[in-house]
Amino acid sequence: MKAKGERDWRAFQPGILSVMVKQIHKEGFMKSYRKELWFEVPTRRAFINITRDVEACLRESDIREGLVLVNAMHITASVFINDDEPGLHHDYDVWLEKLAPHEPVSQYRHNVGEDNADAHMKRQIMGREVVVAVTNGALDLGPWEQIFYGEFDGRRKKRVLVKIIGE
Ligand code: ZN
Repeated sequence: MKAKGERDWRAFQPGILSVMVKQIHKEGFMKSYRKELWFEVPTRRAFINITRDVEACLRESDIREGLVLVNAMHITASVFINDDEPGLHHDYDVWLEKLAPHEPVSQYRHNVGEDNADAHMKRQIMGREVVVAVTNGALDLGPWEQIFYGEFDGRRKKRVLVKIIGE
């Protein structure tokens, strides 16, 4: 329960946000950058380290301080951050197959004219996007953090969006 006379901070949020946005636009220092990374994975499932690709985008953007958003543009693929260790990637694959096995495809109601219901569920668990801080022109990642594209229904062209904002 809120004590009598206490401010409801939620009521103040929109005002605070709008002031910040106005300042950024007025001073005109915010830059933005957008690029699509394309994939055509030859297998149904794969994990691909895209950290170097995102770093290349950051260099191209010339942004030194800000945020980078990296998101899968497809509902059967993920972008996530974790360790670049093949054993772990194998463990993910086994774990995801236990949670949402591909076969038998007839077990899913979504599989009418397609067979990728499991891929939608795997994407949901592994996530749609990551946001990484940009500090001094570099991705501000933890010591073992790497950015991955997770494919769960490959063998066709798919895209990842990289959006960078900052100064
Ligand atoms: Zn589908």
